[in-house]
Amino acid sequence: MSHLMNTYGRQAVGFVRGEGAWLWDAEGRRYLDALAGIAVNGLGHAHPRLVRAISEQAARLIHVSNIYQVAEQEALATRIAQLSGMDRVFFCNSGAEANEAAIKLARLHGHQRGIENPTIIVMERAWHGRTLGTLSATGSAKAQAGFGPLVGGFIRVPYNDLAAIERVVEHHAEVVAVLLEPLQGEGGIRVADIEYQTALHAFCKSKGLLYMIDEVQCGIGRTGSWFAFQHTGVLPDVMTLAKGLGSGVPIGACVAAGASADIFKPGNHGTTFGGGPLVCAAALETLAVMEEDGLLTRATVLGNQLMEGLRTALADVPGVLEVRGQGLMIGIELDRPCGVLVAKAIEAGLLINVTQDSVVRLLPPLILEDEQAAEILRLLVPLIRDFLAA
Ligand SMILES: *Cc1c(COP(=O)(O)O)cnc(C)c1O
Repeated sequence: MSHLMNTYGRQAVGFVRGEGAWLWDAEGRRYLDALAGIAVNGLGHAHPRLVRAISEQAARLIHVSNIYQVAEQEALATRIAQLSGMDRVFFCNSGAEANEAAIKLARLHGHQRGIENPTIIVMERAWHGRTLGTLSATGSAKAQAGFGPLVGGFIRVPYNDLAAIERVVEHHAEVVAVLLEPLQGEGGIRVADIEYQTALHAFCKSKGLLYMIDEVQCGIGRTGSWFAFQHTGVLPDVMTLAKGLGSGVPIGACVAAGASADIFKPGNHGTTFGGGPLVCAAALETLAVMEEDGLLTRATVLGNQLMEGLRTALADVPGVLEVRGQGLMIGIELDRPCGVLVAKAIEAGLLINVTQDSVVRLLPPLILEDEQAAEILRLLVPLIRDFLAA
């Protein structure tokens, strides 16, 4: 009997070693990783520069309290501010915690303006995490089932629908913020229209609402720019990050711009582990490698290669509804539930994921080589064809 709590329906495979986009199991069998720990391992596995940065930092200093100056944390905040054009960062340990910080920041902003029940607009099919606050913001009845009472203060609207938000704001004086994933990941790789994002940003500005975006999955180069909002030309008030930021060490960030950056004061929020020297050193090195090795451009090139390859190879397959995404965040929507493809892919030596029951999700590392992208197509296309033909 396993002594782990039964929170995951795990695949039968486990890994003992990785290198680049490859993973090996204990029997020495090799797997091509097209999931990267769910958008975490952007630099792939065992990247020599990351290994060195973590080892050297571990030998110097792993943890000190946030009651002291933390030079690595300062440096990482400065780097994120430079890359994003935003102003200040709060560091934590996960995507859910980053969103908790954003939710608390929005509520405090509301209270400072005399709003007693600050309310945040969230989206259908949104994914923001599994803490009680973020679970309540998440748009998944399955994830929420059994955990009521949920946290109040959220109103849900359809994704990509500005009129729905305008109607809510018209009828609710207590709305203080909108929380949006520019690209929904768990929600099935759905990309918000650029016009929707810019119009929503303008609407938020005109109503004094915070425009908050969750880039926990789509941030850190995955869509071909440092942050997905940079495809739109508008600057969010608040942005959350996590997954790809530390290449596998637990780090999250809540980033704010302008007046939003000065809402939290000492005592308002905190964390024991967040932003420690070790994880900040890993994140700094991650960003340095991504910049020096041109991985943002690679994400765009590889993403287009993969999406075009998939569209061409699956064009005559009736059960394939759509191939969509941006950069290395790719979804293939089928006309039926296809969760069994995950295990079939493992048998074929390929790691993928299925979300929303019928969307095959690819989130390969940004260090993927052309030949490896071709290998993903060679392995995946026949699996999808055979599955739909059965
Ligand atoms: C994964 C994810 C989260 C939650 O992050 P955790 O680190 O699992 O808490 C939040 N938002 C988005 C968009 C995510 O993809």
